[in-house]
Amino acid sequence: MNDRMKLYIDGVWVDGESGAGIDVENPTTQEILGRVPEGTAGDVDGAVMAARKAFPAWSATTRAERAELLHKLQEGLAKRAEDIGLSIAQEVGTPLRIATRIQAALPQTDVGIYIDLLEADEIEEQVGNTLIAKEPVGVVAAITPWNYPLHQITCKLAPALAAGCTIVVKPSEVAPFTAFMLFDALDEAGFPPGVVNLVTGFGPVVGEALAAHREVDAVSFTGPVAAGVRVAEVAAKTVKKVTLELGGKSANVILEDADLETAVKVGVSNAFLNGGQTCTAWTRMLVPASRNEEALALAKKYAEGFTMGDPLDPATKLGPVVSGAQRDRIVEYIRTGVSEGARLVAGGADTPDGKETGYFVSPTVFGDVDPDSTIAQEEIFGPVLSIIAYQDEEDALAIANNSKFGLHGAVWSNDKDRAIAFARRVRTGQIDVNGAAYNPNAPFGGYKQSGVGREMGRLGLDEFLETKSIQI
Ligand code: NAD
Repeated sequence: MNDRMKLYIDGVWVDGESGAGIDVENPTTQEILGRVPEGTAGDVDGAVMAARKAFPAWSATTRAERAELLHKLQEGLAKRAEDIGLSIAQEVGTPLRIATRIQAALPQTDVGIYIDLLEADEIEEQVGNTLIAKEPVGVVAAITPWNYPLHQITCKLAPALAAGCTIVVKPSEVAPFTAFMLFDALDEAGFPPGVVNLVTGFGPVVGEALAAHREVDAVSFTGPVAAGVRVAEVAAKTVKKVTLELGGKSANVILEDADLETAVKVGVSNAFLNGGQTCTAWTRMLVPASRNEEALALAKKYAEGFTMGDPLDPATKLGPVVSGAQRDRIVEYIRTGVSEGARLVAGGADTPDGKETGYFVSPTVFGDVDPDSTIAQEEIFGPVLSIIAYQDEEDALAIANNSKFGLHGAVWSNDKDRAIAFARRVRTGQIDVNGAAYNPNAPFGGYKQSGVGREMGRLGLDEFLETKSIQI
């Protein structure tokens, strides 16, 4: 891969103010894949002012005009899908199969959702003598993480553009290359200058400059809780709209009448998807105490079947984690799990055999986990599953809700109505019954410290709209 040492501002690729670059590492080989610009507050100012200047004309375009450009963007992403999948496999360590099937495909779906909404009839609501108008919020800043690096951008950019907003994107410095591919596609599609802008760099510099900028009207942030809190603090000074998509510690609750083998099998796959570096990962598995040993044996079998290796090898189900820092954090959590008394059922903190190069962590399962312990409470963001035994359904519900997070979850039962009734009592923004399919049109977001606001579907568009009451 080559360096991408230019920022995209006001419709052209330009040099960054500092001239400095950030190395991007391949976590499998530990080689440097290339460099991207280390943006500055000055670069942010240039990008935000370009977006501000472009806003009046862009916000006045018709829905059909915006839909047409989004169609072109979707085609550009489809054309690049293979390169996008390969880039994510190399930057993030996602197995290529999954990188192509999920990571490269979902961004096209994200764009499609908002084309469909733009092409559907929009009926303005009237209440008494008031016409309720929806208008674009203005200039949007999108700050995104590395784990699903392109989808996390497109699920903000597509609705922002559909709403009539202009945008500055700050991708993760850890896996930035697919953002450049996206901007190649945006450039090719012909979005007017200033409507879309890209500034790479470090969070505390570029991210905070965006959150603080008085010409930014809304910030949409995805990342860890501490950074989200900082973004909200910085943004508060200029009173802007803030959407936060933060971490999770989701519970996969297997009720005693469920098909245990299926629930454990799907649960293990979910917990280890993308190396466990998925905000929705079901990292706590709750099993009836009477079936604890059976569940642990099944989890061990499925975890050990999670073939670890080079993401480019089609047999690989588990690649490396994204960086050395991330690997060290995860290994420390595994040591903490052992020292706090959990039973190590599979994997562990040792470097896997033959994996001295690359940031590999064995698929790890703990049993007999205390629901209040560190590994049951903190987001590890690696291939580590905690299995917790519960006494009865009320106990399971209390354990599921014993978390500062509230992003996702699952419940399994042979009685679907019972599972739905249980799902309603779990304090999370999403929950799957009996392994139901992901729905990209459904609102996505968190309760509690998992965030504020919703992405995807109609509610994802609403995040970028203001409401005006016109009395007539
Ligand atoms: P990260 O530390 O790289 O941060 C994500 C983004 O925030 C990056 O662009 C980073 O540069 C920026 N950032 C960091 N500090 C900042 C600051 N002080 N001000 C402004 N921006 C700042 O995080 P990560 O390791 O890429 O992401 C992992 C986290 O993201 C996990 O907690 C995960 O659960 C969460 N996540 C949430 C969702 C969701 O939709 N809820 C989706 C994916 C990931």
